[in-house]
Amino acid sequence: MKALPGDMRASVHGPIPPGRFWGYYTGPEIAELAQDPNATAVLNIGAVEQHGPHLPTITDTLNGMHLLGAALARLPDDAVVLALPPTNLGKSEEHRDFAGTLSLRGETLRMLMLDIACSVARSGFRKLVLLGSHGGNVGAIDDYFRDLRIETGMRVFKIHSGGLGSVPGLIAPEESAVAMHSGDSETSVVRYLAPELVHMDRAEGYLYETNPLIGYSFKGQDVIEAWVTSDLAPTGAIGNPHLSSVEKGEKLFEAGAARLAELLEAVYRLPPRAIHLAARG
Ligand SMILES: [Zn+2]
Repeated sequence: MKALPGDMRASVHGPIPPGRFWGYYTGPEIAELAQDPNATAVLNIGAVEQHGPHLPTITDTLNGMHLLGAALARLPDDAVVLALPPTNLGKSEEHRDFAGTLSLRGETLRMLMLDIACSVARSGFRKLVLLGSHGGNVGAIDDYFRDLRIETGMRVFKIHSGGLGSVPGLIAPEESAVAMHSGDSETSVVRYLAPELVHMDRAEGYLYETNPLIGYSFKGQDVIEAWVTSDLAPTGAIGNPHLSSVEKGEKLFEAGAARLAELLEAVYRLPPRAIHLAARG
C-alpha cells in the first residue's frame, strides 16, 4: 500500500492509516489498485444519535472508525483493503425523540448504500464490506446487502461490530442481557478511545424488566417488540454505564480490532468462487 508521510497536514482520514484511506488516492491510482482482483473496499456505516447524558452523539461512528483503523493497521502490506469515507449518519429512528439525533430513514440508507456500492464497482473493485457500527443499522444492512450484490455484481459482505469484541467474563450477564445503548461495554470503549468526550458525573442508565419470552434485541427471546428508546430509558442510556472502565474498554476494543483484522484479511484472500457440480446419479 501507498506510504504516506507521518507528518501529513491532511486529517480527513481520522483513525484510518492514511495509506488505507480511499480519499487520499488519485483516480488513476484507485484504478491501478483495482487491478488486484481481490481489492476490497470497506464502508463503515455509523450513526450520530443521542447516547444519554454522558456519551457524545458521534459514539457509533467514532467506535466504528477507530475499530476499522486499528484493524487495517494490522493487515499485511500486500492486502489491498481500503476504507471508504464513512457514512457518518445511519438509521437512528429509535432515538428521534432526543435532541442531537441525526437520522436517515431506512429508504435513504438503502439508496446511500446502493449509490456508494455502484460507485465502488464502477471504479473496478470487486469486493465490498459493509461494517455496521450501530445496532439500528443492522436491519437495513441485513435486508439489503444481497440486493447490492445483485445490482453491482461485486462480492458483498457484512460485518456488525456489535458482535466482534466480546471478551468472555468481562461484562456481567445481568448487564449484557439488557444493555443496548450507552451501557457498560459501549461506555467503556469510549472511555478508552476518547475520555475527553465522556462525562461520567452525568451518567444515568436504565435497566428495563426482562421477560424470558419477549425481548427487544434477540437476547434469548423469540418474540421481539418494536421499541423506541424513550420506552426503555428516560435518559436515553439503556444499560449501566457505572460498571464501565477504561481497562474494560481497552480489552473489548483490542479484541474487536484483532478479530476484524482477521475477518478483513479472510475476505481479501478469498479465492474466486468455485461451484462444484453435485455427483451425478
Ligand atoms: Zn451506540
